[in-house]
Amino acid sequence: MAVTSEIAIFAVHIAYSKMFREVFEKYSWEDVLRDIYAKTAADVEHALNTRKRGLDDFMALISPAAAPYLEQMAQLSHRITQKRFGKTIQLYAPLYLSNECQNICTYCGFSLDNKLRRKTLTGMEMMQEVEYLKQQGFDHVLLVTGEANKTVGVDYLRNAIRMLRPHFANISIEVQPLDQEDYEQLIAEGLYAVLVYQETYHKDNYKQYHPKGKKSNFDYRLATPDRLGNAGIHKIGLGVLIGLEDWRADNFFTALHISYLERNFWQTKYSISFPRLRPAEGLIEPKVAISDKELVQLICAWRIYNEELELSISTRESALFRDHIIQLGATTISAGSRTNPGGYAVEPESLEQFSIDDDRTVAQVRDMIQHKGYKPVWKDWDRFETNQHISHAV
Ligand code: SF4
Repeated sequence: MAVTSEIAIFAVHIAYSKMFREVFEKYSWEDVLRDIYAKTAADVEHALNTRKRGLDDFMALISPAAAPYLEQMAQLSHRITQKRFGKTIQLYAPLYLSNECQNICTYCGFSLDNKLRRKTLTGMEMMQEVEYLKQQGFDHVLLVTGEANKTVGVDYLRNAIRMLRPHFANISIEVQPLDQEDYEQLIAEGLYAVLVYQETYHKDNYKQYHPKGKKSNFDYRLATPDRLGNAGIHKIGLGVLIGLEDWRADNFFTALHISYLERNFWQTKYSISFPRLRPAEGLIEPKVAISDKELVQLICAWRIYNEELELSISTRESALFRDHIIQLGATTISAGSRTNPGGYAVEPESLEQFSIDDDRTVAQVRDMIQHKGYKPVWKDWDRFETNQHISHAV
């Protein structure tokens, strides 16, 4: 069955779905790809001019047929973003807690088969990093670990959140996928958001990139946002690693996933990230390239399709790209990032997960945002008491 006609029955089907996997299995990668590449200028114009946009419109906006409409898309995305979010850009810092990992991922510097000194921050080291980030002005922090259940399992994460909670208004994690009960425990400690990237929705090729470890279980990872929604998380972040497979098809499946989640877990907020495969030690080269223009098209397509989503851009991207994209649809950026455990204050020289491109200081990024007439937002709302003294608890 053609994907377009499948989309027509999506709304009916989704009402009866209990897991995203049931929706996902209705679609074939090849059909999706064929339908995206068959989109025409008329489809793009319909997507730009209609009042209510669906998945079929998103497909048109990410298709090659939309490339000549980039300027129009950028203007529309800019208007929609300003209407919904105002002239604000949220800032956050990733805080890498550990590079231990039991998985082999062919694109990651922390992969089990990559010989590097493994490090997991102690409580004392964590607080050194916190002190540095607080001095920079951050109030939103993203805790990142590899996937090593024995070293950085739920107990470690619970302790980390408990220690950091007095110092940050907003704590997110990007760690191994967990069971629903684990998420419930972490939410009770003050966890706000979980980022979990499927990396690629190309199920057949997924195994090539994830040959060993728990991450090689495609279905468990695919069901993670379901478990998060059931656990009552405030925000879920999705995305794919751009460069593994066709980025258009992968983003269509991400949109399908978000549509499902928004209908089933409507109280949860959602964000999308756009990580491009970056150089790191011992890694594969991107199989599929995406140009800067195409990445702008993709980001604008997301904004035009879904006005509510937070769109996040990390320091993987260049300063020039980030300076432009904050005016076109992005709402959240990191700054001054280090992608190695202890990278801010403890051990700045250790091996990073991937190399960053925008290496400006936090102050330089803040000044750039203000120079463009936007307001940098360090904290969008209060959840905790944040004025407590930073104690070097272990
Ligand atoms: S991507 Fe994540 S799971 Fe894979 S090797 Fe890197 S840290 Fe481990």
